[in-house]
Amino acid sequence: MKYLIANWKMNLTAAQARELAAALGPAIRPGLRVIVAPPFTSLEAVAGTLAGDIELAAQNIYPGDQGAFTGEIGGEQLEEFSVRWVFAGHSERRKILGESDAFIRQKIDYLLGRGMNPVICVGETLAEREAGNIEGVIGAQLKAALAGLSVPSGAAPLLAYEPVWAIGTGIAATPQQAAAVHEFIRGEARRLLDRSFPVLYGGSVTPGNLASLITGAACDGFLVGGASLRADSFLALAAACNQAIAAGWGNKRGQHPSAESA
Ligand code: PEP
Repeated sequence: MKYLIANWKMNLTAAQARELAAALGPAIRPGLRVIVAPPFTSLEAVAGTLAGDIELAAQNIYPGDQGAFTGEIGGEQLEEFSVRWVFAGHSERRKILGESDAFIRQKIDYLLGRGMNPVICVGETLAEREAGNIEGVIGAQLKAALAGLSVPSGAAPLLAYEPVWAIGTGIAATPQQAAAVHEFIRGEARRLLDRSFPVLYGGSVTPGNLASLITGAACDGFLVGGASLRADSFLALAAACNQAIAAGWGNKRGQHPSAESA
């Protein structure tokens, strides 16, 4: 299974989100899981509009069912809209909202306990990359997220490599840069939990660079911000994924074996 996830961030009114969601039906083909993460204020509109097999994600959650947590949204509220996926550890929440590794882990534990799937995001800043500390930073993020984690059977958590310097900048990682980190992430996940996870790439993915990332980045899919905000570019991404799946994405000699866990 391959993944294409749209992160609409703090964009679109509910009316705009409904219109965009209604245009995404052609993205769906067997073998590609298409997941859309609208802002909370658009969840209801999008849930009522999405073509059958497109799934709904939330961009955030408070790790609790309900209660006195002003301004937060909890599990019961998200389940009302059949949200199955939730981001945890997105760099914008780490950096702008000050979320710690410990709080991110609380969310991951909560999501898995409630039968929802975390999309666990990790990535280094440019300064950390230039200091040669990519594995130190991402290794620590992965350890905090995964060490001792109890993953119920049937759960499908995802890992996403999102270099902070590539998010929203127009400068995507090269396939080689991404492939090296994806291999590290797969190795750490195996070492920490003795299981494999799908690994996605995110950071300035566009219809122009997707094909080379599919060929060279050894990933199981993509998390896309800017290019997911217009139907034409998102459908172009989906079409390229579907074409690659038909051509044996991930199954060819020289590409990574599918990391999909059971
Ligand atoms: C993101 O925020 O997860 C992201 C990948 O954004 P963009 O595609 O705009 O770089």
